[in-house]
Amino acid sequence: MVPSLWIWFLVVLWSPLPEKPIEIPEVLVLDDVAIIDVVEGGIRENMTVTIRGDRIESIQRKSDAKPPPSAEVVAAAGKVLIPGLWDMHVHITMARESSLPLFVAHGVTAVREMGGNLEEVLAYRDRVRKGVILGPHLKISGAVIESSQFLGALKQLRQMEPDFADEFSRLVTERVAIRDPDHAREFVKKTAAQGVDFLKIRSVGSREIFLALAREAAKYELPLVGHVPVLVDLAEAAREGQRSFEHSFWGFKHRNRTEAQKKELFRSLAESGAAFTPTLITDRGYRLTPDHVLRSFLNFEEGDNLPHVQERPLLSRRLLDSWRMQLALKKYEGAGFDWVSIHEEAKKDILLLLECGVPILAGTDVGAPLVIPGASLHDELEMFVSDVGMSTLQALQSATVNAARFVGEEEDRGTVEEGKIADLVLLGGNPLENINHIRDVESVILRGKMLDKSRIVDVRKEVRSLVEAGN
Ligand SMILES: [Zn+2]
Repeated sequence: MVPSLWIWFLVVLWSPLPEKPIEIPEVLVLDDVAIIDVVEGGIRENMTVTIRGDRIESIQRKSDAKPPPSAEVVAAAGKVLIPGLWDMHVHITMARESSLPLFVAHGVTAVREMGGNLEEVLAYRDRVRKGVILGPHLKISGAVIESSQFLGALKQLRQMEPDFADEFSRLVTERVAIRDPDHAREFVKKTAAQGVDFLKIRSVGSREIFLALAREAAKYELPLVGHVPVLVDLAEAAREGQRSFEHSFWGFKHRNRTEAQKKELFRSLAESGAAFTPTLITDRGYRLTPDHVLRSFLNFEEGDNLPHVQERPLLSRRLLDSWRMQLALKKYEGAGFDWVSIHEEAKKDILLLLECGVPILAGTDVGAPLVIPGASLHDELEMFVSDVGMSTLQALQSATVNAARFVGEEEDRGTVEEGKIADLVLLGGNPLENINHIRDVESVILRGKMLDKSRIVDVRKEVRSLVEAGN
């Protein structure tokens, strides 16, 4: 060995090893809190919740608890603890990165991303996991599957609406038109390798394509989620592996069924393990709200009845541009769509679905007009109770335990229990008594980290800066 290498070798051997800091997980204690049981519907008062690192370590009666001296103790008397909320239908790339902390500020600690620019979504998921940006736990689907006919129509619209060429181009590139069963299998194989959790179907050109997608997806244990397929029987779609059906307009194909026929269908869906995501708030924001309300919101006009007007500066430019485009597209929908009656029938169907054992999932379709990341999930839950007639417990379940079970994460999420990930929301009142207390967010605990009221104010400021920087 040459001398210089010897010297190097000795230096390395004799240098003291850099001391590795021993990581001591931080301990957070919620003292004297009331905990909602979202499975049974009870409330346990005077409890102490100890969170170590990102997990709930123990839940004890206050009188039995001895918080460790190093713990950060939060006085939570009079406050109500629920599991973090899930929004089960969002389009993050329409709302952009700024929407991620905005969800969290409203107590939404997990979302199911239902189709957008996959590269961008994967980057967001990565940034959230690494802690670069504050954001919810993300479950994601691959590129949105369309029929060739629908994608063709979208391209035609791009020509007819040159003002929105950018928006259309984005939509077209985020979707894939599946040509035939072979193409379907090839697409599933490719998408499975990209690390997605679901396959989102918006439209398919034939029953054969649907079956090819479903059977190939089953090989990779990728559940299908999406719209009610027009060319496939609903019960068959569920049997073949479509796990969730989205939006209130599922009833199109089934409108002429009697109640007894609907119940028979819904029971078969329950047996297949399918769930429904009604996204009622989208009907309210887009279909059932007069256009001038949306126009005023977009034009930054003040108005008494503008929903969530205080959130407007927190919405990305891309989201507002997309709303403008969707407003312009309304005229192509045709007169055959009676949205009032579709919405009314959907609301009745939700109760029937529940009666037949089909889980309801709370989702908003962030990306649709006047749907605000975070705030609109609260609206959806309120609509479930006051418009549909669900119990407050059923509404809470739709955004907590049902969602966690749906994605197969009930071991880690969905309830306030020992051992689970500490994604939690502290409310100022009991949502079982009045669902509107869901809006009364005092603090959010995200993977064991406390975001109190003043930190949430800062988070909103950070959202605004992201929006101003074009994100
Ligand atoms: Zn959607």
